[in-house]
Amino acid sequence: MDPQQILQFPYAAAPAPGTSLEVAPGLRWLRMPLPFALDHINLWLLEDGDGWSIVDCGIAGDTSRGLWEQIFAAWPGDCARSRAFQATRVLVTHCHPDHVGLAHWLCERFGATLWMSQAEYLTAHAIREGVAGYTPDNLLGMYRRNGLIGDALEKMAVRGNRYRVAVPEFPHSYRRIMDGDEIAIGGRAWRVIMGYGHAPEHAALYCSELGVLISGDMVLPKISTNISVWSIDPDGNPLQQFLDSLQRYAALPPDTLVLPSHGLPFRGLRERIEQLQEHHRQHFEELYEACAQPLSAFDAIPTLFRRELDTHQLFFAMGEAMAHLHCLYYRGALARRAGADGVIRYLQHGGFHNEPVA
Ligand SMILES: [Zn+2]
Repeated sequence: MDPQQILQFPYAAAPAPGTSLEVAPGLRWLRMPLPFALDHINLWLLEDGDGWSIVDCGIAGDTSRGLWEQIFAAWPGDCARSRAFQATRVLVTHCHPDHVGLAHWLCERFGATLWMSQAEYLTAHAIREGVAGYTPDNLLGMYRRNGLIGDALEKMAVRGNRYRVAVPEFPHSYRRIMDGDEIAIGGRAWRVIMGYGHAPEHAALYCSELGVLISGDMVLPKISTNISVWSIDPDGNPLQQFLDSLQRYAALPPDTLVLPSHGLPFRGLRERIEQLQEHHRQHFEELYEACAQPLSAFDAIPTLFRRELDTHQLFFAMGEAMAHLHCLYYRGALARRAGADGVIRYLQHGGFHNEPVA
């Protein structure tokens, strides 16, 4: 059976660009385009007294700003309220550019405060500034040590700071949110449920009164969330962190309406989490089999991705391949060592016994 058929999608289509749609009392959905293969992001507006809390912002650029302007201009007509749009706060799930790009612009425009977790706030600044190890050299060095070869490395070296293009400005103060916080929005309590592995400290928001989870990128209905090892934490185990985090969402009521950042709102949270666990379990199995021979993360990519990848996708794939190998390594299924060429390779546990140590 098609895994998508196990889930229920109450809406067949997203609201048209520049419009919003009520999906629960006082909760509206809007969508912004993205110039990537993943071509859209969902944003949410939560009624908050005389104004609205904005959840996630869209990538910076004329297109997104223009669509926000359409939303604001049509506000009373669009949602049958008499007041002009006013933002009470700008809440951001995590630091990725499609979520945070226009945060500064929105905060300035409405005199609103940015609400975010500390790790996401500081990471956004660090990536923008290219500090704290967020440098192309650091990234390229990690990829090289994990077997990436060929012109992809040169192509990457000339890409520059693309984050800064998508997030041209970023606020210099914020309101910190923490795991378990209950944020009162429009008289309703929204509980912060932090998740890990996709971004440093990703906030999802759950409202038991509405039975709604704003899942951000932690639980998506169709695609699996990108889980990558990053060069500031080259020995990290983000995939295990992600799988552990999923348990926290699986504990929510089974009929919860999930509002994801990409794809359509759905019901079937537990079923979707089982699908994601199964997806990674299959990847683990295939990778373990492939590691009958010593394999670098680069060598492992065809096992995980059975399609041609462009340069941009290749970097995501490298991070993902490393995340899977690290997880198996920390579980004790794989051994690893650096070869004479400095490249880290993985082998089924015990497999390196008769090899000379590099
Ligand atoms: Zn993300």
